[in-house]
Amino acid sequence: MTKILAIISTHGNELLGPNVLAYMLSKRSKLLEDIEFIIANPRAYAKNVRYTESDLNRIYGLGLDTYEGRRAKIIEERIRLLKPELVLDFHTTTAEQPDILITADRNNEVVQRFINASAIKDSLVVSPLNDITTVAQNFVAYEVSNSRLNDDLYEQICTDIERYLDGKMIDQERAFYKMIGKILPEEEKSIDGLENFVYNDELQAIPSFLGSKAYKQDGTYAGFKLERLV
Ligand SMILES: [Zn+2]
Repeated sequence: MTKILAIISTHGNELLGPNVLAYMLSKRSKLLEDIEFIIANPRAYAKNVRYTESDLNRIYGLGLDTYEGRRAKIIEERIRLLKPELVLDFHTTTAEQPDILITADRNNEVVQRFINASAIKDSLVVSPLNDITTVAQNFVAYEVSNSRLNDDLYEQICTDIERYLDGKMIDQERAFYKMIGKILPEEEKSIDGLENFVYNDELQAIPSFLGSKAYKQDGTYAGFKLERLV
């Protein structure tokens, strides 16, 4: 049985996934025995764009007849055939913020084991948005700032995966956050001192993803409001 299915290049211009794969191939190849990789959006990777026709991370389960819609179907089929214990996904953001893990179900036993095996302390719990969590429950994504991409991080991620496979965990304080809304471009402009992952009184929330170019392109929101879960 495949233990881990690693989905890379869900967004074609985000290089964490391809870089982790390259690092693993050259320095940590033993891990490959338990991991299968899939390049989620090869066309967007080749063009170095987020997506070509529709955002792959917003169209699972919709049956859209676009390039990304067809890729979503292929990935869904792959998950059904392989029945991986855990699905991992890799994202980068142009926003400056702490490394986070993203999941839709913090109570899922496999998800808990992975989070507890990771050196990353902050986890974000999201509601399914026709992203991949719509089709895979045993799911964790990495989301790191572009400025963090280097071999130390890839080694840290390989060590997270190794610890998970060995059934080990890191005993450290962990924080869980939930998305409670979007930060509008007007709010970003009018509120002073907004800093990602630092609570803001005026916003009455913890801002995140401010400075993300991907959201600026979209124009309808500037980031997300978070609430810390207890
Ligand atoms: Zn992404």
